[in-house]
Amino acid sequence: MESSPEFYPILLAEDDPISRRLFEKILIKEGFAVTTVENGRKALDLFHQRFFPIVLTDWQMPEMEGPELCRAIREENPNRYVFIIMLTSKGSKDDIISGLGAGADDYLTKPAHYAELVARIKTGIRILELEKSLKAAVDEIHLLSITDPLTGIYNRGYINERLPQEIRRANRYGRDFSLIMCDIDHFKKVNDTYGHLAGDAVLKEFVRCLTSVIRQQVDWAGRYGGEEFLVVLPETDLAGAMVLAERLRKTVQSCETRLDGCTIPVTASFGVTGFSPRGGKAVIKSEALLQKADTFLYEAKKAGRNQVVGRPLVEP
Ligand code: GH3
Ligand code: MG
Ligand code: MG
Ligand code: MG
Repeated sequence: MESSPEFYPILLAEDDPISRRLFEKILIKEGFAVTTVENGRKALDLFHQRFFPIVLTDWQMPEMEGPELCRAIREENPNRYVFIIMLTSKGSKDDIISGLGAGADDYLTKPAHYAELVARIKTGIRILELEKSLKAAVDEIHLLSITDPLTGIYNRGYINERLPQEIRRANRYGRDFSLIMCDIDHFKKVNDTYGHLAGDAVLKEFVRCLTSVIRQQVDWAGRYGGEEFLVVLPETDLAGAMVLAERLRKTVQSCETRLDGCTIPVTASFGVTGFSPRGGKAVIKSEALLQKADTFLYEAKKAGRNQVVGRPLVEP
């Protein structure tokens, strides 16, 4: 019951103690958690410490008036919606227009009809719920757009976007950076022998093995192409990357995909490269690193597969 009042704490700013107490009582009776303050300044100070999805604010108050509070809340919370209702004894059209112009969503003229107040708050909750479900949908779409549907790791689009950012960061702050390109050996034979579905199962198992080895917080992996994967290792020098690639190679070798009574073993080949802080030298581009890793991967294939070949991007 996400729409229950307890999920929507209310901040009430009202300078008149009698009105404040009355509003508070009625809202508490409806099940809302209400925090009261006596002017706009205090409301804004409190807002800086805690988020309130619903704000009820009087218009005329000392220190900071309702419209100014509205504007400040809107400016400071561009990514999170706050439903603001202005309470006013000013009932003229011009006043109402200027209150809505300051960012209020709705207004009530005082003395307020309590059932109407509650009904308007519930309208606000419907809008906040809608915002929540839209945000969840956007998050989900974003996640889908950067994920490879078969294996669940990042896709090529995400690699293209994030890899240059990581490299720029390493260049700027003088950090170590490495990457590993890996490719399953004789994968075509897996498809030819066991079928395409078995090939898919092998890819999934391969990724499970790969991601079980890397540090989840800093390192990340993505599907670069069909049976080719990239492991990105910020803050890691070439020696560290070589150790990890060797561990990956052994892990892949020991993982087997079991399917319909068959056991399908695979191996993979690895190309590793990277750079270390280089004090004012030319900036490194992701294309150069990828190309180098690919060259070393090809060398590993040529040398018999199931092995790791790696050297720094700029060889001494
Ligand atoms: P090498 O050791 O030289 O890498 O040989 P290979 O057979 O692994 O390489 P090749 O590039 O000849 O073949 C890759 C195969 O991967 C061909 C392609 O059909 C298959 N493949 C690519 N994506 C998928 C996928 O999503 N599912 C399945 N089942 N197969 C895929
Ligand atoms: Mg007042
Ligand atoms: Mg291959
Ligand atoms: Mg390949």
